[in-house]
This record gives sequence, structure tokens and C-alpha cells, in this order.
Amino acid sequence: MADTGKLFVISAPSGAGKTTLVRKVLNRFKALSYSVSHTTRSPRENEQEGLDYFFISLEQFEQKITLEHWLEWAKVHDNYYGTSKELVRECLEKGQSLLLDIDVQGAKQIMKSQLGPVSIFIMPPSFEVLSQRLLNRGTDSKQVIAKRLENAKLEMTQKDLYQYVVVNDNLEEAIEKLCSIIKKEMA
Ligand code: 5GP
Repeated sequence: MADTGKLFVISAPSGAGKTTLVRKVLNRFKALSYSVSHTTRSPRENEQEGLDYFFISLEQFEQKITLEHWLEWAKVHDNYYGTSKELVRECLEKGQSLLLDIDVQGAKQIMKSQLGPVSIFIMPPSFEVLSQRLLNRGTDSKQVIAKRLENAKLEMTQKDLYQYVVVNDNLEEAIEKLCSIIKKEMA
């Protein structure tokens, strides 16, 4: 269908600056919406239900696995995250493009689907910068940070599965690079 929206899948290790990048990019494209995921993780301070995530219980999440509600889902850092099949379908059918901010496991599931996503991996400039950013963020315990760093190492080995890799060394340059990819792919 010529007038369906396009699907963009963006992954990055925690602390690569993805959230800031994604926000900036979304402001530039009216025809691009953010896909709000469901998670069993507790909300962080300042996170809003339905805006950042739909926060649901483990029981609800597991029931939705049984009901085949998820387009993709994964367990990331001990919590479950999933993208609703229905929300994605509704959006794309309206001609609205969607940006999914999901982990590598989920991205792989979408890459295998018939949806023909555009896949982008955001790399931090170095592992040291990543560690420092996670520590400075001050939102997570030492244990959680250690887990996120371990996972980041693993995710970074899989960057070549993606069509595009953007290094977030300089924020403004990374925004421009990301925007030019999206503009080209939406044309
Ligand atoms: P955070 O807890 O920091 O918000 O997110 C942790 C990780 O979960 C990030 O890598 C994020 O991209 C990923 N994530 C968020 N939503 C989804 C989702 O719906 N599916 C998958 N597979 N990963 C997600």
C-alpha cells in the first residue's frame, strides 16, 4: 500500500543518548509518531503513563503474550517490554509513520517481519563515555548500572544488523544525521 506509514526501529545501549535524540527528531517530523511501549518496569520520576510507557503488571504482560497482543516483546534488564500489534497497525494504516525505540532483541523480531522497517543503531562514542553518562544520570542503582553496561557491550556487538549506525559523539551532528536518514527514507 502506497499510503501506509513507515516504520523506524531505533536501538541503542542505555546511556547512548537515544532518548534526547529521539525527542529532538520527533519534533522535526509531523508525520512521525513515537510508539509508546508497554513495560513491567516501575515508572521513573517524571515518567508519565501513556506518554513514556504504559506501565502494566507482569500478570497483564504475560496474559498479552498468550493473547498474541505483541508485535514484539523482550525481557530487558529484568523487566518486560513490548510493542502493541494493534497500536502499530492502526498508526501505519492511517498513513502515520512510527518510531520504535526498542532493544536489539525486539528489533530483530521486527526485522524478520513483513513490515520492512528502517533500522538505526545509535552508538555511544566509547564505552567509557557510556559508563560515565549512566553514572551521571543518577537514576539507577549501581547494580542496575552494572547490568545495563553488561547488556550494552552485548548490544554493541550487534550494530551491524542495522541499516544505519549513528555515533552520538556530538549531539547536534547526531541529530542532523538521524534527521537526514529519516527524511530520505520517508520521501
Ligand atoms: P528503559 O527502561 O531505560 O526505558 O529502557 C530499557 C531498554 O528497553 C531500552 O533499550 C529500550 O529501547 C528498550 N525498550 C523500550 N521499549 C521496548 C519495547 O517495546 N520492546 C523492546 N524489545 N524493547 C524496548
